[in-house]
Amino acid sequence: MKAAVVHEFKQELKIEEVPVPEVGSGQVLVQIKACGVCHTDLHAAHGDWPVKPNLPLIPGHEGVGEVVEIGENVNHLRIGDRVGIPWLYSACGHCEYCLTGRETLCHGQQNAGYSVDGSYADFCLAEANYVVKLPDNLEYVDAAPIFCAGVTTYKALKVGEAKPGDWVAIYGIGGLGHVAVQYAKAMGYNVVAVDTFDEKLQLATELGADKVINPLTEDSAEFIQREVGGVQASICTAVSKPAFSEAYRAVKRGGKCVAVGLPPEMMEVPIFDTVLNGVSIVGSIVGTRKDLQESLQFAAEGKVKTIVDTAPLSDINKVFEDLEAGKINGRIVLVNDLPSDAPATDKASTSTSA
Ligand code: NAD
Ligand code: ZN
Ligand code: ZN
Repeated sequence: MKAAVVHEFKQELKIEEVPVPEVGSGQVLVQIKACGVCHTDLHAAHGDWPVKPNLPLIPGHEGVGEVVEIGENVNHLRIGDRVGIPWLYSACGHCEYCLTGRETLCHGQQNAGYSVDGSYADFCLAEANYVVKLPDNLEYVDAAPIFCAGVTTYKALKVGEAKPGDWVAIYGIGGLGHVAVQYAKAMGYNVVAVDTFDEKLQLATELGADKVINPLTEDSAEFIQREVGGVQASICTAVSKPAFSEAYRAVKRGGKCVAVGLPPEMMEVPIFDTVLNGVSIVGSIVGTRKDLQESLQFAAEGKVKTIVDTAPLSDINKVFEDLEAGKINGRIVLVNDLPSDAPATDKASTSTSA
């Protein structure tokens, strides 16, 4: 099968032929129809984080497709089922976190496209218990970004614990942020969108943001404190240290700063203000399978629509370049050329570019 493979950090991915993985007990093989390109994949290919993936690596954790092979001891899936393979590739299923609805904190988890091979390929192996089915009316291309960008921001908003009618801020209107704005509106919040690119603020407005601010023109936290008295929850998806500081200062007393973006730097916070203002700073990592089902349902009901452009797998290095330069509006979704011996399928839908 064809796959995009990282052989060395910070080097171009190679498009190459690799063996189709063998299906073991409890596993399924998924023929990938579409896979969103998350900024996390870029961090993986650059080796940005303290815990590095083993190379060679096939990235990709927004892969969706069709189940084409089923291993032993899998009883709840059928050939032809439409599923996605999220970042939470598997968890141990029996630790304190798995048992209390916090499986994304499991120490024994595997992560698609990081600790195990992901979906930048024609096929991807998956643990049957951790794939999540697509709603019937959601096209592959539109569904793919929900498997990370969607579920992550939906969960982060839940973690933010704002009430309907409250103000929330979304820092970074990229792949994650453009769906965050829509989940926030669907959940009844007033939204301030923050990004350093005016085109992204324009997109945020089209997607329902009530106010926008470009921190290159004015300190965004000062703007937010002045205009709306601070936000109850500030969701920071920006890959930028200064953005985290502004997201923190944009929060009102008793509010929460929810850290989602993963720049490899430290976040500095003033102790005095944190104490006196009773502000919480909390990390939020993707979402559980249940969060994912819920976030997909918003998309199935048309309340959240991913803005996607498609690209062939072979364009991945150019896509990474554009992602790093902040040139992408919404999400790029890779679509595969089908291998010649593959069963007939519905081709991925055409893109809806913003
Ligand atoms: P992206 O590149 O599509 O979006 C990032 C956005 O931040 C861009 O629009 C960029 O213009 C904007 N930005 C940059 N500097 C800014 C600043 N100073 N102020 C405001 N906005 C600024 O990336 P993405 O795919 O949305 O991912 C974002 C980050 O979230 C990455 O670090 C990724 O690894 C991380 N992530 C975390 C989780 C999680 O579970 N916590 C899940 C997925 C991704
Ligand atoms: Zn991701
Ligand atoms: Zn566990």
